[in-house]
Amino acid sequence: MLAGYAVQVEHSRGRRFPEPPHPYRNDFQRDRDRVIHARAFRRLEDKTQVFTRRYSDHFRNRLTHTIEVAQITRTVAGALGLNVDLAEALALVHDLGHPPFGHSGEKALDAAMRTHGLLFDHNLHALRIVEDFEQRYAAFRGLNLTFEVREGIIKHSQDYDGAKHPELAEYLLDQRPPLEAQLIDLTDEIGYNTADLDDGYEAHLLTLEQIRAGVPVFERFFREVDQTYPEAPDKLQFNEALKGVLNRLAGDLITNTQARLQRTGIQTLADVRLREERLAAFSPEVEAERKQIKDFLYENLYYSPSLAGEKDDAERIVGELFAFWMKTPSALPHNYQEKAVQESLPRVVCDYIAGMTDHFIIEQYEKYCGGN
Ligand code: MG
Repeated sequence: MLAGYAVQVEHSRGRRFPEPPHPYRNDFQRDRDRVIHARAFRRLEDKTQVFTRRYSDHFRNRLTHTIEVAQITRTVAGALGLNVDLAEALALVHDLGHPPFGHSGEKALDAAMRTHGLLFDHNLHALRIVEDFEQRYAAFRGLNLTFEVREGIIKHSQDYDGAKHPELAEYLLDQRPPLEAQLIDLTDEIGYNTADLDDGYEAHLLTLEQIRAGVPVFERFFREVDQTYPEAPDKLQFNEALKGVLNRLAGDLITNTQARLQRTGIQTLADVRLREERLAAFSPEVEAERKQIKDFLYENLYYSPSLAGEKDDAERIVGELFAFWMKTPSALPHNYQEKAVQESLPRVVCDYIAGMTDHFIIEQYEKYCGGN
């Protein structure tokens, strides 16, 4: 049973190109499956989350991160009586627009675009992928996803200004997104905050002592674990404590969002949409803990000198390849040269680079920029 404020698939605003119903999957289940079967989804396997493979094969990449976010999202959405199919589809699609090399790749691509008065935004890029670049069906370009999934791609993590983005007018930019979409920004963060502590520890870039001293919520769980399992190896104590942190964040997201829905008297999806602020949120106490984890990761992991070389490489590779194709568009694949007839060359080069895996862009760099 869905809550009154959940998105009901029967009330979906539907697809751009109407399609007959499927005999045993509803429209959001079909959208979830279309995302999973997309080429861009498979490419997430070879896109950096935080670490490249140089450290270990056990670390998250963007695909396994996405699967973890989908898992957390299903739990939270289900507990809140939301539409789990829609929430899952949104979780699976949420990082589809990410370029190679994680955050550094994104930064470099955006910087290159800005020199042409344009910008790169991974949510807008994800929409271009599902609307245009994925070609699987004879009847239309793109995946022909329902309105609610496309809206969630745009609105899950950011509020776009309608005046600056007239092309997004259909996505009701003056309204909040449904709760299924609001969740994604937070479940994404639960996923990567805990996973990055895990991978950072595993990579020996973070020590147990450092995490215990810098992340008070982790320390509280660690002490409990240490009392219950004093003889357990460090790594298992670490795992147990981290599991406690993840459960606390997800549990608080559920109970605090529930409390806010009750307090504000939200009954329907329209109530959610017309509300001034987003309703999915951590409690102030857990929000402070979330911020502590994030600040800790920025200071000790994301900006750590051990990752600096990798980041510089990423920025150089993206920057130089972008400049190369701007100067030598004849070296672009044919279909991209054709696109450049209708669209600006920087946008076409950006689309090409954004779609690449880490492995492919390095190959291109070696081919065209001498790999130095
Ligand atoms: Mg993510």
